[in-house]
Amino acid sequence: MISTIRVRFAPAPTGLLHIGNARTALFNFLFAKHHQGTFVLRIEDTDLERSTDSSMDQIMEDLRWLGMIWDEGPDLGGPYGPYRQSQRLSIYRQLADQLFQEGKSYKCFCSEERLERLRKEQLSKGKMPRYDGRCRSLSQEEIAKMESTGLHPVFRFRVGRGPILFEDLIHGKMSFDSAGIGDFIIVRSDGMAAYNFACVMDDHLMQISHVIRGEDHLSNTPRQILLYQALSWSPPTFAHHPLILGPDRSPLSKRHGATAVSQYREEGFLPEALQNYLVLLGWTPPSGEETLSLKKMVEDFSIQAVSRSAPIYNRKKLEWLNSFYIREKPAAQLTEMLISHLRKASIQVDQVDRQWLDQVSEILKENLTVLSQVEEYLGLFFDDKFYFEEKAKTLLQEADHRETLRSVLNILSEDSPALSQEGQDSFLTQLEKRVNRKGKELYAPLRAAVTGKTKGPELVKTLPLLGRERMIKRLKMALELS
Ligand code: GLU
Repeated sequence: MISTIRVRFAPAPTGLLHIGNARTALFNFLFAKHHQGTFVLRIEDTDLERSTDSSMDQIMEDLRWLGMIWDEGPDLGGPYGPYRQSQRLSIYRQLADQLFQEGKSYKCFCSEERLERLRKEQLSKGKMPRYDGRCRSLSQEEIAKMESTGLHPVFRFRVGRGPILFEDLIHGKMSFDSAGIGDFIIVRSDGMAAYNFACVMDDHLMQISHVIRGEDHLSNTPRQILLYQALSWSPPTFAHHPLILGPDRSPLSKRHGATAVSQYREEGFLPEALQNYLVLLGWTPPSGEETLSLKKMVEDFSIQAVSRSAPIYNRKKLEWLNSFYIREKPAAQLTEMLISHLRKASIQVDQVDRQWLDQVSEILKENLTVLSQVEEYLGLFFDDKFYFEEKAKTLLQEADHRETLRSVLNILSEDSPALSQEGQDSFLTQLEKRVNRKGKELYAPLRAAVTGKTKGPELVKTLPLLGRERMIKRLKMALELS
């Protein structure tokens, strides 16, 4: 069966990809893939002043990183291209002409100042601001006169009377009264199609079957439906999902921390964790599972099951998922990822033995919440990054601990018990016996001395990776601390 499900993600390339938009992309992607449909990437760059190529490239890179691979788009092309609105101007012009010829739109010369005055007046009377239709019935002569002065009009859509009804897949039956909608702009004075107009043209011409987007667009939908009706086209099915809120229940913004996908990526979140986290913001899989692979999400996703109430951003949960996916990674793959973070921290890893690094990754796995923490932990394996944390210093002041460390130093300097992977247990057990200290009494000062920290990966696994020489050096340093 050939599927007719076609959805699109339509970002404006005016900044970074926000996690809210990434979630919209994810919902579209999952819906398409669940139905063996097509996921289209359309770049909405009609705002020429604010749109940039670098933002478009960054959005595409972030989407790829997140695994939201599109089937048609500006780079891939496709049967309904071009996929950048700035390259579709002739299409919009043709349809704008058609609406104008049919009397469904009209030229408006009202100045920004007049419109602003009107808005203020209406607001002061407690009314919803809407265009008052002043240019609705200008005569040919009036229009010619305005144009002869060099004024460029906008084109406004003539909104008719009556209710506008549609069925939203998340919100159910929706009803708007067109009386509340003023004649809206479809072509701006610079000749550029306005969002609502371009969006309808594209969704229709690209044969989009379902429009899945944020609730912030709910007020655009009745306008778009009016345009479909004016052109005798049938509208797609709509689904408007609630937007993510911050912990204080205001719309998620920079105030709440990182919002751009690229920031999460730099911090060392894995794409699997972000995908998983975003899908759970508003959707619960039938199995109730918390950790889901992309494949499983595709299998189980249902847009109708997305909640109508707004999800609250919770960084702790995202971190929990990230730790989970870090632990799941095979050491060799994790090493690859960690290397890029280490380079950023100017830790020279190129000369480091790869097998040793894999072993380090394996033990660090248990401690990392985000990959960038590797600097903090891995620093302890590199002398030039080594230092004693304040807490460790305090602990190392205790006379009892210093005595323990002196004994350890003596033992290590004279004859070292086997310090190998296999012998790890016996190494620490032997030390316990020889210094006559049990468990924490030995581990706490030893950890502080050789790692410079009071917390970290399991000591039994860390020591063989540090090696005897380095341990001796650091024990001496610890004992020299005043
Ligand atoms: N360019 C619009 C936005 O980024 C697209 C809205 C839509 O999906 O129709 O919000």
